[in-house]
Amino acid sequence: MEMMEKAEYITPEVEDMVVLRNIVKRFGRVVASDHVNIEIKRNEFFSLLGPSGSGKTTLLRIIAGLEKPDEGVVILEGKDVTNLPPYKRNIGMVFQHLALFPHMTVFENIAYGLRLRKFPEDEIKRKVYDALELVRMPPETFAERKPSQLSGGQQQRVAIARALVTQPAVLLLDEPLGALDLKIRQHMMLELKRIQRTVGTTFVYVTHDQGEALVMSDRIAVIHDGRVEQVGTPYEVYERPKTRFVANFIGESNFLEGTIKEGVVETSFGPVRVGAKMPSGKRVVVSLRPERIRVGKRARDAVNSFRGRIREIVYKGDVLIVMVRLDDTELKVNVPATHPEAAKLREGDEIEVGWDPGDEAGVFEAEAE
Ligand code: ATP
Repeated sequence: MEMMEKAEYITPEVEDMVVLRNIVKRFGRVVASDHVNIEIKRNEFFSLLGPSGSGKTTLLRIIAGLEKPDEGVVILEGKDVTNLPPYKRNIGMVFQHLALFPHMTVFENIAYGLRLRKFPEDEIKRKVYDALELVRMPPETFAERKPSQLSGGQQQRVAIARALVTQPAVLLLDEPLGALDLKIRQHMMLELKRIQRTVGTTFVYVTHDQGEALVMSDRIAVIHDGRVEQVGTPYEVYERPKTRFVANFIGESNFLEGTIKEGVVETSFGPVRVGAKMPSGKRVVVSLRPERIRVGKRARDAVNSFRGRIREIVYKGDVLIVMVRLDDTELKVNVPATHPEAAKLREGDEIEVGWDPGDEAGVFEAEAE
């Protein structure tokens, strides 16, 4: 597609709200975005997930127009906006270090964007009150407070109300829960998801926290070194990671090394059968989630069944984390506290562990990282 001077109308009812096409962004020798292609749908809660420095914020800033890509095209609602400044893009933004105006009341903070757009006073009041109700802050209690009279979670709700009140097509959120305590963060995750479902606005959410991304998102793009490793639903990226990086970054994984021989992975502790057919001779790693490994009778019945020794047991209330030595490999096994044999497990004892072909999250080439 050619660069255009002005936003050009392409199609009225587009399904893709945000399209990044072949985006490249360099800062000196750092390639912060390396040929990124992402399509975000209308009404989607879409997360950009990756470790610090992977390039998530850069992508968000490119969507916002705060950063101009060296190559590639940004399309919002079917219009090429690559050369449009931020204020001409129909977007709202919420950041971790929010910038509520400290000298203004909650009401005036939220009303700000509406005043700029010259809405009549009665409409401003109705919209601000609706926005406060949406984020569950009763206007009669909160409208006249100053930001300093609010908790961190409440301030973040006001920031969200302020960003949504002008009804942007897309809301961009950069680690908005990062500064909150764990309990409030967990609560706000569910709140954000509820708000998104209620308003139907497309959310693009930047986080390095896989828990947040899994809980809230319709789909997740996993970013690594400026590249998109995988785009998928929470289920897909967790259960079927496409790369070793994704298997490692999302959730926990045991990585079992071996060489394929007649369809079986020969490891140091014995043959491991996997779901997929693989050509002989390859060095691979099998990714196996700790909760997929069974113990006790169901371990003995499994296709892949081994005897090991318990090195350590860590009690976590709902699960026991059991570290099991198999030859020179150590397996992390999650045993539910309700498992009939959980109470019998002792450090130093022998234990049977087992799983079936297909229980593995993936099989990757050993050199893949
Ligand atoms: P974090 O979670 O730490 O914010 P991130 O995934 O959002 O990380 P970015 O902020 O997008 O990552 O940064 C990606 C890379 O680009 C990093 O190596 C960063 O140092 C570099 N970078 C980002 N902005 C600039 C800039 N304005 N000037 C120079 N380098 C930059």
